[in-house]
Amino acid sequence: MKIVFSDFDGTLTVNGKLGAVFFKIIELIEKAESELVIVSGRSVSWGHFLLTHFPLKHVIMEGGGVIVTRTKEGVISEEYLVPQETLDYLEATTQEIKKNMPEVILSADSLGRVSDRAVEFGMMDAKAVEKLENYLDQKENIHYSRSNVHINFWAGEISKANGVKTFLEKYMPHLNAEDCIFYGDAANDESMFELFTNTVGVSNIMSILDQLEHKPRIILEGKDNAGAFGVYNHLIELFSQSQGF
Ligand SMILES: [Mg+2]
Repeated sequence: MKIVFSDFDGTLTVNGKLGAVFFKIIELIEKAESELVIVSGRSVSWGHFLLTHFPLKHVIMEGGGVIVTRTKEGVISEEYLVPQETLDYLEATTQEIKKNMPEVILSADSLGRVSDRAVEFGMMDAKAVEKLENYLDQKENIHYSRSNVHINFWAGEISKANGVKTFLEKYMPHLNAEDCIFYGDAANDESMFELFTNTVGVSNIMSILDQLEHKPRIILEGKDNAGAFGVYNHLIELFSQSQGF
């Protein structure tokens, strides 16, 4: 297996925290001469943080809206996967929401977001969430999904799968989907469960599994396989098989 794609929140963390097991995963992937590419709904500025502090070459952020890459010279570059006019339309929509729905709580890191915006739906009452989702449903060329931490909305054709497809075409054109695996835990990972054959849901995916039309091929079970522990346990097994998949 050449590339391990993984969601971040709830998949490489455990109970919302980044722990020692994350570093064990990185070590395991390096030893196997594979590469970890995080595919997250977090902002592009989080992507800079991840590339700056961990031994990663590429991350795909904002739910697939941007590929962030560290060059050999150490320079970080960003590639947005929708045109500027689409980004401008998203900003105009965000301003409309702020003006007309003051009860919507945009995430603190929405300031650092370019190709999507995030909403702290857990801090809002159910009626306000419903009102926002109705608005987003009716708005032309605006889409949204739920991660385990946010409702993210964006303009244009953005998904984790589109981000990964573009990434593979551009950076790893010799690879095909069978050379890759994806780990995830939430509804915003669904496009990846559809795109790849090799997909794994960590055990905390159970609570949202019914909402998914496209489910991961393997669903890990038990507390011992929650979040990053599940990824670690599965990778140990995977790398120990000489045939790979
Ligand atoms: Mg997640």
